[in-house]
Amino acid sequence: MSLKVAIKNEAHRLGFQLAGVTTPDPPPHLTVFEHWLADGRHGEMDWLAAERSRQRRADPRLILPECRSILVLGIAYPPSPSESEESEDKGKVASYAWGDDYHEVLPKRLQALVHFIETQVGHPVSNRWYTDTGPILEREMAQRAGLGWIGKNTCLINPKKGSYFLLAEILLGLELPPDEPILNDLCGSCIRCLEACPTSCILPDRTIDAGRCISYLTIELKGVIPLDLRPQMGDWVFGCDICQQVCPWNQRFAVPSQEASFTPRPGVARPALGAELALSSEEFNRKFKGNPVMRSKRRGYLRNVAVALGNRKDSAVIPALAQALTDDEPLVRAHVAWALGQIGGAKAKKVLTGALQNESDPSVRQEILAAQIEC
Ligand code: SF4
Ligand code: SF4
Repeated sequence: MSLKVAIKNEAHRLGFQLAGVTTPDPPPHLTVFEHWLADGRHGEMDWLAAERSRQRRADPRLILPECRSILVLGIAYPPSPSESEESEDKGKVASYAWGDDYHEVLPKRLQALVHFIETQVGHPVSNRWYTDTGPILEREMAQRAGLGWIGKNTCLINPKKGSYFLLAEILLGLELPPDEPILNDLCGSCIRCLEACPTSCILPDRTIDAGRCISYLTIELKGVIPLDLRPQMGDWVFGCDICQQVCPWNQRFAVPSQEASFTPRPGVARPALGAELALSSEEFNRKFKGNPVMRSKRRGYLRNVAVALGNRKDSAVIPALAQALTDDEPLVRAHVAWALGQIGGAKAKKVLTGALQNESDPSVRQEILAAQIEC
């Protein structure tokens, strides 16, 4: 058995359904990424535009000068079902975030794989690994390593297993024969993801206008969600799976996750929105400890929950919203006020009028005044 086959077998044993090898040559579509940055499509994710990151992204050998090959790995997370019927008072969390945080799950596997490689070759091997945390165009590397092609929705799609994969890379100071890249564009004439995206943020060059993407708005954006985008967010409270749900390659080929750590935790995948709004800091920390939702912090998550409730327009949650208008976080109060404006009616207006009398934060007052007009 060749070393590469032995490494791939071990990767599979460690839970990575996808494994491929590519060279550390510069990524061929770097210019697309650079244009994306230049056009400001990265929203407030300024770290992507940092000069050092850009240089390293352009040449993986700047990350690890001894690098001779890059091992690219994919681990499946649970496919997100398309639901034709909405469940009352339930929000939606992207399926990669239903279980344990992959940033905590994957490093041990990557370290174990490096240890296996070193044992096989009989000496230490220079290495550096990433789980979406480093300056590396991981989908490009995955495509070049033969794991799939980059779909119009910008996801890496494997023709036999779909796109519900988290990617990881190990840069190795070890020569391994590269795999054949998948060069065909198997999207063909399909445009389902473009048609389904609620915010029309998928661009023609297979990039996303991140500033409009629900994943960005609910996770990366730390401040106020732009007014014009709130109604398009539906009931997604952390991430968004729509452009993967509608993809025919997922509908036919998505594989179940074999990873126990990604098993949905109770109440995370489809949270009861009214109850989430009442989460204290302690309850939030307890519920989401070690889960990706922690990334949005309580104030970001409750902001998203408020927007989802506003989009639901269900007057039954007015008492929960009224209570949340006394939350310590102005960001939460501002979006709760918006939600009340969306629900409208005399009851919502009365709550807003009462809150205005006690509100001192100018941004929240502005939201309350605008919401009163909506009512
Ligand atoms: Fe559009 Fe949602 Fe896909 Fe973002 S994640 S591109 S908002 S469908
Ligand atoms: Fe490609 Fe269609 Fe899937 Fe979009 S939905 S990624 S166009 S196959």
